[in-house]
This record gives sequence, structure tokens and C-alpha cells, in this order.
Amino acid sequence: MDLTLPVTRLPGIGESSASRLKKLRIHSIFDLLYHLPFRYEDRSRIVAASSAQAGETVTLIGRLDTVKNAYTRHGKILQKSVFSDASGSLQVIWFNQPFLSRTIRKSSPVALYGKVDFFDRKPALISPEYELINEGNVGSKLIHTARLIPVYPETAGVSSKWLRSKIFRLLSFLDIPEILPFDPGMLKWKEALWSAHFPASYSDVPPARNRLAFDELLLLQLLALLRRDSWRRTPLTHKFRVNNNLLDRFITYLPYTLTSAQLNVVDEIISDLSRPFPANRLLEGDVGSGKTVVAAFAAFIASQNGFRTLFMAPTQILAHQHHQTLVSLFRPFDLKIGLITGSKKIDNRHTSLDIIVGTHALISKSVKLDRVGLVVIDEQHRFGVAQRAALALKGASPHILTMTATPIPRTVALTLYGDLDLSVIDELPPGRIPVKTWVVPDFKRPASYSWIASQLASGQSQLFVVCPFIEESETLTSVRAATVEFDRLKLVFPEFPTGLLHGRLKSGEKEKVMEKFRAGEYRILVTTPVVEVGLDIPAANIMLVEAADRFGLAQLHQLRGRVGRGDIQSYCLLFTDKPTSRLKAMEQYNSGLKLAELDLKLRGPGELYGTAQHGLPDLKVADYGDLELIEKSRNCARNLLPRLGEYPLLRSLLKEDKIALIQPN
Ligand code: ADP
Ligand code: MG
Repeated sequence: MDLTLPVTRLPGIGESSASRLKKLRIHSIFDLLYHLPFRYEDRSRIVAASSAQAGETVTLIGRLDTVKNAYTRHGKILQKSVFSDASGSLQVIWFNQPFLSRTIRKSSPVALYGKVDFFDRKPALISPEYELINEGNVGSKLIHTARLIPVYPETAGVSSKWLRSKIFRLLSFLDIPEILPFDPGMLKWKEALWSAHFPASYSDVPPARNRLAFDELLLLQLLALLRRDSWRRTPLTHKFRVNNNLLDRFITYLPYTLTSAQLNVVDEIISDLSRPFPANRLLEGDVGSGKTVVAAFAAFIASQNGFRTLFMAPTQILAHQHHQTLVSLFRPFDLKIGLITGSKKIDNRHTSLDIIVGTHALISKSVKLDRVGLVVIDEQHRFGVAQRAALALKGASPHILTMTATPIPRTVALTLYGDLDLSVIDELPPGRIPVKTWVVPDFKRPASYSWIASQLASGQSQLFVVCPFIEESETLTSVRAATVEFDRLKLVFPEFPTGLLHGRLKSGEKEKVMEKFRAGEYRILVTTPVVEVGLDIPAANIMLVEAADRFGLAQLHQLRGRVGRGDIQSYCLLFTDKPTSRLKAMEQYNSGLKLAELDLKLRGPGELYGTAQHGLPDLKVADYGDLELIEKSRNCARNLLPRLGEYPLLRSLLKEDKIALIQPN
């Protein structure tokens, strides 16, 4: 059976169930098989009716007498019956379930699971779960009682009990093949699925989940490798020639010496650009490590070859900043650099430009421009998206260079970004002074404010205030929160001019506010969390984050990266009413990678990249921390890739839109 078929192909699952299952990200039969319990409930203790004690939760196996409806003194309806087994009998009570009188017939053999308590001063089993035992039961096995019971993630109209029945039927009737064409030295797939859903004992669970986790990682990695393959097969009409003399001149004109990490990456990019297939490189470097100039290098090579570069930033403000940076880096050379803001289309009116700077929106619009040889994408966290978008550029596929300050731990890079080549700038330019970081509990707020005031009064300091993280995308709520904080701080620091920056300001206004802050006219800038990425204002040296506990460590590190860019001591104050040890790690570590790894351990992958939009699939079974399994699956994926055609079953699972397992959120 094709496991990628929709669940509606299964008996007893119609369109309405299917639409409810979508909320659990279950679309295909495969998805249902991989909807694993998040815990198990031990209902294996079977007792005799005569020895059931009040206060105990037990399973009973025997027969039920007729279920009769009755009314309480307050007019509520309840159901009464009597359970008996060889040892004796016990009364059974349900509340407000009148249908039971129809579903349970007299003398029905049943298993009941519930709590024994007193009712009308006599022991009774109260509101038990019941499971009818009849010859028709699949394998006449009990699945809801009398054993370890899987408990699943549920949604409205989809209970664990319902899922349990469907999955049990599926496992019983499906001819479950082995999906791997080799023996990974683990449980068979069929065995693993059975034990993960219906383990005989707790010790059956880990090896089963381990096997399923392996498959999950393997599929992800095969998919990444397939993407890489197909990207590399797209036609490239331009093979760049690199003129070393010109590059040397570019380097000579730089206002600083490149670090050796920057030089290494420049080398990697040069060899990328001289290959006959399009590059797809991810450049990872801590905030302030100097990624922009490296990208400028690549743009320079493209322009030398008569091709233009699209240079994209996540926000308008950053686009402006990049534009300024590039204009000044290329001043000694004859390069035309344009900035496109708002919703303007780019088309052949812009053919005279060598570099076009804009926001990420540039590429989602139809770009009608030929000779685009390179696309630089700054701080885009959904890397796969970038690639797909670049493909939308008609004609030849450009080289892609994506840059991020989000430190991607090795395990994540191995699992998910196998289709990208990774470069790392692991060194900061010399002379940077580490930012002093303090976690500030609420009671120290007044003292902190007077300390900040004294710093500002010295004339050397500027202050960023970042309002609490409310939602990933900037909603009216977070804008309002920033506005309130702005009004409040004007009273706290009346003597210092204060600016307010958020995404709902008109675009011209944002730039005005930024310029005033950059020029030192504003001494304080109040912002929302979304506007801050990548800002480079060397004079700003104090970062104050409100409700810091709501942020991931990697995000806090990003925020902190806004200061510490000049040659004066910088400070980062993390305000919180929950000074946890997680936050304290910020005081201790200055490495983004270290903090990202901690976050990965403590809060899961979602936090690495902000929330909903991170583009990382939530692994269903596997765990980003399991380096050993990740590496094992990666090696297998590499070996399998060339022979994938011989394994139709495995190949069929690698359709990106078919199984939820490998789809980004
Ligand atoms: P990020 O990697 O965070 O994007 P930027 O490219 O904005 O960092 O660079 C941060 C700052 O460091 C800029 O002011 C830039 O001019 C400066 N810079 C970049 N490379 C060097 C270097 N090798 N030596 C000194 N300063 C550098
Ligand atoms: Mg940057």
C-alpha cells in the first residue's frame, strides 16, 4: 500500500475526520503511523471486583448488567450498572452519558478502567472508561484497558481513544513493509511501530523510538541531498572569472584589514563562483563578525563579470544601512548601487545597476531583470524558501549567498541544511570589547535607571530599549506596548531626547528616527524586537531588554549584538522578574554558538529562530541533540542517494508535500 495516500483511504476515516486530523498535521497514512504517543498510561493492574479498594485506580474484567438511567436530587442524569466477575460485584456509575444504556447490553463482557470511590455510601467504580470485549475485536485484544495505553496528542473531535482504535486497526491490517533497503542494526520498522504505539512494557519503547527517529532523520537528509542535487542541475549560463588584481585592489581600499576568518570565507566564495553550477551557500557568523563586506566581495566579482547582484535585507532600515555600507565600500570603483524601497517592481529600467539593495520582498515580487548572477540574502531564517524564491527568477539560476547571525549548531546544520554549503566566520574583528551583561531582577530597576542616567549624562552613551517579545510578526499589540513604554520612559529620563521605532511607522519616518539616533540627536531609542536585526550603530553602548525571559538565548544574543560595536565598553541589561539560570548564561557566555546549543537543549529548536516562522520542522521522534544518530543517518543517506531509484518505497516517501514529517512548519 502507498503510505503517502491520504488518511481518507482508511476504513472509518471520512472527510470530516480527515479535516480534524489536519490540525495534528496528519494528512497521509504515513503521518498517522508516525503520530506517536507522548506518554503511556499503565492500566495493566487487573483486580478482582471483591478486592477493589476505594481510592484505587484499577482495571476490572467481567460482565456488566443493564445500564439504567437515573436522576439525582438536583435533576441531573446519571447511569447505574453492576459489574461482576468470578469474585463478586461492584456498582458502576457514570454521569450524564445516557447513550450508554444503548451501547452496553446486559451481560456484555467488558473491561473497565477507573477509580473506585464511594457512592451512596457503597464502593463504586466512578465514570470508568470501558472497552467491550467481543469476538469481533481485532485479534480479540484489549487496547484501551488492561495494558500500557498510548496517550496521543489530541485535538477537538480526535481523542486518544479514537486514535488508538484507528492506529491499532491500521497496524493490524496493513502489510507493513520494511522501508529501509538495508539493515541498520535496529528493530524492524514493523516491530518498531508496534512497540512505539502498543508496547508490552516500558522497556520496549526506547529501541522502538530510536528506530523511528532514525527513519525520520534519514528522510530529512535524503530530502536535503535531493534538493542539493536538483539545485546543482539547474542551468548556469555564467561561469565567473575571478580577476585577482581587482580583488587585491578592493582589499587595499578597505578601511580595515580582513580577519583570517573573513579571508577564508572569501576564498570559499571565490571557488563557489567559479564552478559550473549555482552555489547555495550559508554564511554563518556571529553578530558583528563582518559578514556584509564578505558579501560585497561576492557582488564585486559578479559585477566584474557583467552580472548584477540582488542584495536583500529583512527590513527597510537594514536595506538602507546596507545601501550606505555598499556605496562607501565601492566608492573607489565604478559600481552603480541602487536602493529599492516599498513595493516598486524591479525591471529592466534598472539595468544600469550593478547592485540592487532592497528587502526580502524584492524576490517574492516578479523580478523582471536579466543578468542576475548573485542573490545575497541577509538574516533570512527560512533558508529553503530563499532557494525556491531564487528559482522564480526567470532564466538562469543565480548563485545564492544567505547570511545569518543565528548560530546553527552542527547537529541542526547536518540534519536540515545538507543542501547548503556552510561557511563560518568564527572570529570577531580585533579590538572588540566584550559586552558586560547583567540579569536585572525587578527590585533593582530604580537603581539601574539611575545608573543608566549617569552613563547618558556623561555624554558618551546611547541606549536601546527593546520591549517584551510578544509575537514573532509585529502586531498592533507589540506596537502599542512599545508606545506605552516610550511614554513611560520619557518620564523616567526627561532630560534625554528619546525616539520610538516600530514597524508600523511610515517608511520615511523610520529612516528619520534611525538617522536621529545614529546622529546622537536621540539618546534613547525604544523599539520592538523585530526591527533590531543587523543594526550597526557604533555609538550605542547600552542595551536594555524588557521581560528578557520571554526571549530565546540566541535572540538575546542577537539583541546584545547591537551594542559593543564601537571602541567603548558596552552593557546589556536583561530586565526580568524571573532571573533563571538560563538567563544567567547570558552573563557568562559571549559566544552565540554556545548559547544556541544551550537553548536547543533547554527550549527546543523553535527558540533558535524565533517562533512560528523558523522553518525548522519540529522533529516528531528524533531529537536535534542526538548527534550520533544524526551522523549515522547522514552517512546512510549519502550511501543511499545514488541508488534511491532502486527503492521505490523509500523514494515515494520523499515527496515533500506528501508527509508532514519532512515539511517545515
Ligand atoms: P555582521 O556580521 O553582524 O553583519 P557587519 O558586517 O555589520 O557585521 O560588520 C560589523 C562592523 O564591523 C561594521 O561596522 C564593519 O565595518 C566592521 N568590520 C567588518 N570587518 C571588519 C574587520 N575585519 N576589521 C574591523 N572592522 C570590521
Ligand atoms: Mg549583518
